[in-house]
Amino acid sequence: MPPADRADLVVVGAGTIGGWASVFAAGDGLGRVVVLEAGLAGQGASSRAAGIVRAQGGTPATVALGRWSIDFYNGQAARYGTDSGFRELGYLILAVTEDDERQGRARIEMQRAAGLDVEWLTAAEAAARIPTLAPDGHRGGSFVATDGCIDPPRNVRAYSLAMQAAGVELRERTAFEGLVLESDDAGGRRVVGVETSRGPIGTERVILSGGPSLRAVGRAAGLRIPAGAARHTVCVLEPAEAFDVARQAMVFDIGEGLYWRLEERGLLFGWSDPDETPGEARSINWPMYERVRERLAGFVPATRGLGIRRIWAATIDFTPDHLPILGPGLTRDGEPIDGVVVASAGGHGMMWGPGVARVAVDLAVHGSSGLVDTADLGLDRFDAEGRSRLATDPIALPFPTDTGEVGTASL
Ligand SMILES: Cc1cc2nc3c(=O)[nH]c(=O)nc-3n(C[C@H](O)[C@H](O)[C@H](O)COP(=O)(O)OP(=O)(O)OC[C@H]3O[C@@H](n4cnc5c(N)ncnc54)[C@H](O)[C@@H]3O)c2cc1C
Repeated sequence: MPPADRADLVVVGAGTIGGWASVFAAGDGLGRVVVLEAGLAGQGASSRAAGIVRAQGGTPATVALGRWSIDFYNGQAARYGTDSGFRELGYLILAVTEDDERQGRARIEMQRAAGLDVEWLTAAEAAARIPTLAPDGHRGGSFVATDGCIDPPRNVRAYSLAMQAAGVELRERTAFEGLVLESDDAGGRRVVGVETSRGPIGTERVILSGGPSLRAVGRAAGLRIPAGAARHTVCVLEPAEAFDVARQAMVFDIGEGLYWRLEERGLLFGWSDPDETPGEARSINWPMYERVRERLAGFVPATRGLGIRRIWAATIDFTPDHLPILGPGLTRDGEPIDGVVVASAGGHGMMWGPGVARVAVDLAVHGSSGLVDTADLGLDRFDAEGRSRLATDPIALPFPTDTGEVGTASL
């Protein structure tokens, strides 16, 4: 018996990837778009992020995803009547060692070739541009004036309103539990439906997102997806006179994975610890916090002695090479499953999320995307242990590279 419930596209996960993907699909003319959300929309990583958005990527594909996403954020209000609160602030990626500087200058060449307007600031120029930054202890860095930040809860609100306006059907408290496949005459597999905690839905297109839960979503689907989850911590310090300015550029201490920006006249900073065991974030690592505060105070002396206004640890998604996953679901034999697309921003869902969502819809609906070349971004870049054949994104946060037990595909 075919299921009574049918959709032109089923999207798993109502985070920023699934949310925006559903809006784009409806905008492309797909009639019935259903989003399955195990909990509540935005309750995953998407509402807990720091909101940093940069086009300064480490590869041409991530530069393209960042640029597309910034253009998208800038055009949201006109298109959807709502926005994610994007503010153009500028972003300095600091070089601390000679090696950082060599790599940073080489990165600039790649980014310029990818069309990005990026410059190198000396230490003195950086300190002049960012008055709270100490002039010593670093060698300046690469700077893009058009990078900035969004307000993550406002982004959840923006895609939720856009979903509603586009007629997307959001099913909260409804978990995706599996794919229903058929074999074609040539021996290929294609999706014809999904199983959910509230019954089956017939469909020929599925986008699987899930952020930090993507590996489990893959497991439910019968796919092997080497996506990880780890603790990431963000802290906002109390207001100080030095931070009482309308606009100041954000800074990334790339070697330590420590970034900061101003927030409500205080300073927001965040970090990842590459040495900790991946898993769900349950608490603040206070000794690590102390180390990070000390390093921050070296770069921003005005933070010394300031109290905490807010601090949170949350679970961030990552991939083994810290690059996005965009490609078809694969069977155990590595054959693509027709109609199934896997989408992960690999821990960069604020900066690449709209671009990742756009590409996921392009692949699911049109079969290819003009936004980025996805040849290298699919699941086929990972071996049986989840190791990528690509080099790790040189500008990502220092996430772990081992996502843990990936298991085997059952399809
Ligand atoms: C503390 C922190 C700070 C961050 N800061 C930044 C930043 O500054 N810049 C940046 O670019 N990125 C940042 N990130 C990363 C960014 O938030 C994520 O990459 C992004 O939110 C991932 O979006 P998503 O839609 O893939 O996942 P999520 O937002 O986690 O959404 C996935 C959804 O899938 C649902 N789901 C799971 N399993 C199922 C199932 N079986 N059935 C149905 N639904 C299911 C979940 O309930 C969840 O709602 C940060 C993350 C954290 C945690």
